[in-house]
Formats: sequence, structure tokens, C-alpha cells
Amino acid sequence: MEKILDRIVKKNKIKTKFGNVANYIPGLDKAGKEDLGICLLDMDGNRYVHGDYNKKFTIQSVSKPIALMLAMLDNGVDYVFSKVGTEPTGDAFNSMIRLETAIIKKPYNPMINAGAIAVSSMIKGKDKEEKFKRLLDFFKMVTENDTLEYNEEIYSGENRTGNKNRAMAYFMKDQGVIESSVEDSLDVYFKQCSIEVTTVDLAMVGMFLARNGRLSTGEKIISDYQAKAVKSLMMTCGMYDGSGEFALKVGIPSKSGVGGGIMSVLPNKMGIGIYGPALDKKGNSIGGDGILEDLSKELDLSIF
Ligand code: GLN
Repeated sequence: MEKILDRIVKKNKIKTKFGNVANYIPGLDKAGKEDLGICLLDMDGNRYVHGDYNKKFTIQSVSKPIALMLAMLDNGVDYVFSKVGTEPTGDAFNSMIRLETAIIKKPYNPMINAGAIAVSSMIKGKDKEEKFKRLLDFFKMVTENDTLEYNEEIYSGENRTGNKNRAMAYFMKDQGVIESSVEDSLDVYFKQCSIEVTTVDLAMVGMFLARNGRLSTGEKIISDYQAKAVKSLMMTCGMYDGSGEFALKVGIPSKSGVGGGIMSVLPNKMGIGIYGPALDKKGNSIGGDGILEDLSKELDLSIF
């Protein structure tokens, strides 16, 4: 396995030249364009790491499936999906067009920005501090890493420049999708996106879902149905408007973020975390995408 990872990472490092580091959130552009790393964990307790697996980066949209799990625990699955849909859009992750034109008066799914902000608005707590603390504690639990914290610089940069996210959130308040405070919901969302992780943390989340919502101790945290909901939404919507092609070429439920992270789940088998901040046009890690495609082919990992 070490040899396979070495070869695949090396091969895909070349692709990073053709991508770009996200720069629309102040601070994200400081990432090293050619960085690429992976952590792969399996059910037998093996851990394989390679390249920049231990570098910290902000989790960004990979936070969306994790926040969704807590929102489902807090409110029940039916309530969550009465406010957020379960259909892919084929639009960019930050698109707002369907909020107004769709027949369903709710964001299409929890993996795009609009849906994720609605999900964050459902996290319970007496104020925004308590809501975020509960969410961060949940992140710490599923990654089994007590040291997680958010990056203050990225959070404040996103809060300062997140006008489009803000516009979508106010629109959703008008539609009755967001029932709590808009600004508190945005604050929780911006902070959750700024949580710093490594590929090991993402692989741990992948393993948590691979075990159908169990920690490594065997403790069951979310129901089988909730785990199934998260994995299926990752498969259909997790790579945004690249999800269809990704399903065909890779076939592994995955979630990407503009910080360069990808978290992948092979049900009952593996959790994979990848870091590669050079992104393709759709906002997915270009090297990470290539690594997953090669791994899937070589190890026959597609779930289809
Ligand atoms: N925080 C980012 C945003 O709201 C997350 C987007 C992403 O990772 N695709 O734009």
C-alpha cells in the first residue's frame, strides 16, 4: 500500500500545477499550491499516510456533512429535510439561483452553501457561542481529536467578505427556512468552515461513517438511517456540480472543501482524508480528485 500511495501521490502532484488555490476568502491563498497528502484508515486498524498528510488546513465545506449529523441529532431527520432538500443542483456550490426559482421553497441539499447555512441554523444552543461550542465538541468527538480549534484569521476574513452567503441566509429567513437568528447562523457556519484539521482528522470522520456512525470504541452516536442519509448525500452532492462525473470515475462517497480537503467513506471498509489546496474550476482539490480516481481504479474501490 505504501508503494501504491507513493506512486499515485507523485503522479498527481503534477496536476496541482493546473489548479488554483482559493483566494476569495482572505487567508486561504497562503496555502502551498503543490501540497498534497493523504491518510487512509481501514477497518483492521491500519493507517497509511503519505506526503503533506499532517499539514493543517481549514475544513471549509467538509464541515457540512458533520454539521448535518448534529442537526439531525438535535432536530430529527424529518425536520431537517423539511427545511433542506436532498437533490443535487448541477450548479456551483455558492449558487443562489434556485433559492427563488425552485418549486420547493428550500435550498436543494445540505452540501451546497445555502443548504449548509440552513443546517447550521438548526444547531441547538442558547446563543451563538453555545451553538458553536456544541458543534466544535461534536467535531472533536467524531474526529476523536480534542485539540481541534477554528482559525480566527480565516473566520474573520470569511465573516467580512461573505456577502453572498449573507444574502442567501436573509433570503432563506424570508422564506421561513431559517427560523433562528440569521447572523447567529452565519457566525456558526463561518466558524465551522474555519476549523483546522489534517488529513488524519478527515480520515477519522470517514471511518466514523464507514462504521455507520460508531466511534472507534464501538459507541454508536448516530442511527444507521442518519449515517445512510449523510453518505448518500455525499455521493450525489458532495463534489458539487462535479458529483456526477466523480460518481462515474471514482464511485466513493466524498465531500470536498475549498481549503483543499476531501473526506471519503468506503462503507464498512475505509476512511480517507486528502489535502491538496490547488482546486479545479468547480472548487474541488485537483490533486485529491486524481488520487481518488487512481486509487479507486487500482484497488477496485468504486461502490458501484
Ligand atoms: N466557507 C466556504 C464558503 O462558504 C465553503 C465553501 C466550500 O468549501 N466549497 O464559501
